[in-house]
Amino acid sequence: MSAVAGVLAQGVDLGRYNSFGFAARAENFVRVESQAQLREAVALARANGWPVLVLGGGSNLVLREQIPGLVIQMAIGGRGAEPVGNDEVRVTLGAGEVWHQSLEWMLEQGYYGLENLALIPGTVGAAPMQNIGAYGVELEQAFESLQALDTETGEVCGFDREACRFGYRDSYFKSGAPGRYIILEVCLRLSQRPRPVLRYQALVDELQVRGLDNPQPVDVFDVVCAIRRSKLPDPAEVGNAGSFFKNPLVSQAHYQQLLQRYPALVAFPAGEGCKLAAGWLIDQCGFKGETRGAVGVYKRQALVLVNLGDGTAAELMCLAQEIVVSVEARFGVTLEMEPRLYPA
Ligand SMILES: Cc1cc2nc3c(=O)[nH]c(=O)nc-3n(C[C@H](O)[C@H](O)[C@H](O)COP(=O)(O)OP(=O)(O)OC[C@H]3O[C@@H](n4cnc5c(N)ncnc54)[C@H](O)[C@@H]3O)c2cc1C
Repeated sequence: MSAVAGVLAQGVDLGRYNSFGFAARAENFVRVESQAQLREAVALARANGWPVLVLGGGSNLVLREQIPGLVIQMAIGGRGAEPVGNDEVRVTLGAGEVWHQSLEWMLEQGYYGLENLALIPGTVGAAPMQNIGAYGVELEQAFESLQALDTETGEVCGFDREACRFGYRDSYFKSGAPGRYIILEVCLRLSQRPRPVLRYQALVDELQVRGLDNPQPVDVFDVVCAIRRSKLPDPAEVGNAGSFFKNPLVSQAHYQQLLQRYPALVAFPAGEGCKLAAGWLIDQCGFKGETRGAVGVYKRQALVLVNLGDGTAAELMCLAQEIVVSVEARFGVTLEMEPRLYPA
């Protein structure tokens, strides 16, 4: 019997492993702390014909009650850094490292560039999955490469930035080849010279309120944490997965059309078109603070759906569908869900 088969657990409740806090039962569950254990777990799943779900912090997942096959909890750790010239460093992080703690460590070392992504829950390995982004910065801006296990061939492959095909809350791993690759480690290229990114108005305003005219990376980090704490519910208190919908991209023409009818429309330029604030659209349809059984729309931010206690994925998906239909009818815009529903 393989070592992994020996530590395999059956019928594990994933309630505390997903930020919605949904009671979901994993048919089989294993935590892996090394590449060797991961390979064994994948081989075991293959031998049994089990579907595999890789679980990081569970903060971008909507889990149904029964999870068939094998859940692999990613816990491969490791942090390292090497200078690469021009005041830059290459930081390598294991996929199971906690994102926010890694960011704190980078800041302590004097490696800058991703301060705006403070307090995003979850693991390093999941960060490239949807090219995490917040407050004017996306992971890809400091991304160099990653190593991933190809579950079809058993080989470890390297992916540079181009191969990852990053997009807005998207990547090759999320929409090109979902489920095929398991990310093992991520390499970032960071600067030893502070260069704060101050594009996001709420961030600029709060820095000003604090009298920080020449903000340092640690100031940006602290302010981002403070804004996030004031706006988003803490999953430890109210189950949620952050933004439930992506901000929809529309053409300039469509944006202008909507703006004429809704002068208060909130939107941001994005490439050739515009990104509409999904939260604003949902709020206009009257959903903010609405509840349906044990799930609802967060009272302070309509983009966040919440589990109020013993809600289920099924209830949440009904509410999500109601919102999609309503926004489509009113604005002619189709909202796309951001977290992954599993099993789909
Ligand atoms: C309060 C709150 C605020 C949030 N704010 C933001 C935000 O500002 N910006 C943002 O972009 N996101 C945000 N999120 C969403 C979420 O935190 C991120 O998407 C995060 O990267 C998910 O990490 P995780 O480890 O929890 O992934 P999980 O939820 O465990 O997994 C997400 C997906 O990635 C896959 N996956 C996980 N690890 C691996 C791996 N090693 N290899 C291959 N596949 C893997 C899973 O199978 C799943 O499909 C927020 C969530 C919450 C709860």
